[in-house]
Amino acid sequence: MKEKHLPYFAVLDACETKECPICFLVKDGIERYFDNLLYENINDSGFRKKFRKNFGFCNYHSYKFLSYKDTLAISLTHRDLLIDIIHKLKTGDIRYPPRKNTNKCIVCELIKEVEERYISVIIEYLDDEEFKRKFLASEGLCIPHYESLLAKMKSPPKWLVDFNIKRYKEILSRVDRYIDSCNFSLGDKRPILADNEKLIAKQVIGTLFGFEGNPK
Ligand SMILES: [Zn+2]
Ligand SMILES: [Zn+2]
Repeated sequence: MKEKHLPYFAVLDACETKECPICFLVKDGIERYFDNLLYENINDSGFRKKFRKNFGFCNYHSYKFLSYKDTLAISLTHRDLLIDIIHKLKTGDIRYPPRKNTNKCIVCELIKEVEERYISVIIEYLDDEEFKRKFLASEGLCIPHYESLLAKMKSPPKWLVDFNIKRYKEILSRVDRYIDSCNFSLGDKRPILADNEKLIAKQVIGTLFGFEGNPK
C-alpha cells in the first residue's frame, strides 16, 4: 500500500466540496498566499525583489491584491514600481510597459505549481480504492483541469472517463431543465425549479472555465 501524505488528504477533503477539487485547492492556495503576504511577508526582501523584477502581479491578481483593502501593503509594494517607471522615463527609456519584458506573476506561478502538485496526486492514487470512492462522490473535475490531467496520462482508466462524461451530461440536463423552466409555452410541462437548481449559471461557467481568474 502506498504511503499517504498531506497532499493526498488535501485532495480527499477537497472532494467533499461542491466544486472541482483542484479548483478548490487552487483558490485555497491563493487565499493562504495573500494571508501570509499581508501578515508576514510584505517586507520580505526576496518577495520584494521578485515582485519588483516582475513589475508586480498580473492585472487580475493586482486587483485581487487590492480587494484585501490593505492600503499600506499596496503602497509599500507598488512605490517600487513607480520609482522604476519614473527613473525609466527620466532617462529617456520610454519603452513602456516594463511588463513586456517579464509577463510573470508570482500568483500565476503559484497556481501552476498547485495544479501540477494535486493533479499528480490524483494520477498517483487513481488505483486507490479510498480515493476512487471519494472522487466518484465529488463534483468531478472542471474541463481545464480534466484536460491538464489527460495531458499527463497516456491512458486514463475507463471509470474516470465515464465519470467525467456523466458529470458533464448531468450539467447539460440541468441547463436544459432551466431553459425549459423559462419556457411558458410548455404550459403544465414547464418544470418548477428548486432554489439550488437556479444556481446552474455558476456551475456551467465553473465547469467550462475552472475557477475565476484561471490563467488558462
Ligand atoms: Zn478545476
Ligand atoms: Zn497572476
